[in-house]
Amino acid sequence: MMQSGDPSRRQLLQGLGAAAVLSALPWKAGAQPAQAPAPQGRKRSLRLAHMTDMHIQPERNAVAGVAACLQHAQSLKDPPAMILTGGDHVMDAFDEPFDRADLQWKLLCKTFKDENSLPVHYCLGNHDIWGWNKPKSKTVGTEAGWGKTMSLDRLEMKKPYYAIDAGGWHLVVLDSVRTDPDDPSGYVGGLDDEQFEWLKADLAAHSAANTLMLTHIPILSVSVLDAKTAKGGDMKVGGGVIFTDWPRIKGLFAANPQVKCVISGHMHRIDRCEFRGVTHLCNGAVCGNWWKGKHHETAEGYALVDLFDDGSVERTYVEYGWKAEK
Ligand SMILES: [Zn+2]
Repeated sequence: MMQSGDPSRRQLLQGLGAAAVLSALPWKAGAQPAQAPAPQGRKRSLRLAHMTDMHIQPERNAVAGVAACLQHAQSLKDPPAMILTGGDHVMDAFDEPFDRADLQWKLLCKTFKDENSLPVHYCLGNHDIWGWNKPKSKTVGTEAGWGKTMSLDRLEMKKPYYAIDAGGWHLVVLDSVRTDPDDPSGYVGGLDDEQFEWLKADLAAHSAANTLMLTHIPILSVSVLDAKTAKGGDMKVGGGVIFTDWPRIKGLFAANPQVKCVISGHMHRIDRCEFRGVTHLCNGAVCGNWWKGKHHETAEGYALVDLFDDGSVERTYVEYGWKAEK
């Protein structure tokens, strides 16, 4: 089942503009235009599938679920040219000892090898990081593969953040998971200074290209407002669900109007925020509620993201028909 995304504000504005122009044309009563008005001039540059939060594991029939999702996207009449993953490929490595983390990564790699022939670009999530919770994972931090290294090795990535060019667009993949400064066993969303400086330089070097950003933890999201209400009625949004360095990111985006859209995962929800010319899209989860069905209102699915030559972006959330194991 496919659900159409809402028309973008840009589309609505374009629609209004076209209507205003048509009503101003000096047609005689009863006359018909010789030709239908020319279609909107934009052309699609690239269609990609954004598959986030797979949380593969031996349980919950998750291997078959990831395979079904990959097959679904490849069998579409208008298939994507590539897959961008959105992080949390594995159920969890953060709290787990080596054997359990290793087993989940093996399942993920085998499933992609067996079930997918599209190009894939990976983005890391918090659950992909091995052992950051040292007490729970029973690690000390000096093990081979500890931290982000295991996921980089398994996914054959050189760095946890990078950029590529495709279809005339610049695609930037961020590493959005940082150690919580107040809790060495935890994490928060955002960029460290080194990555922020890299991003600044990368955007400056590609200022002419419409830019899409991919992050696991959202830069901005509406879904985080389902957070628990704190004492006194204040809402408390934890640093683990959003970019804690939003003020400097906001400034960077203001200086780089070529940044059109940010896609994220982590919330297992679908939402959309517009802020100063940037559309922030949170794109559900392949696993839904960690393979137990819907998470809130969001069923198991992935997003088709269409990028156009005028800088506009359309998102369609695709439910691939998964039935959670009882
Ligand atoms: Zn996550």
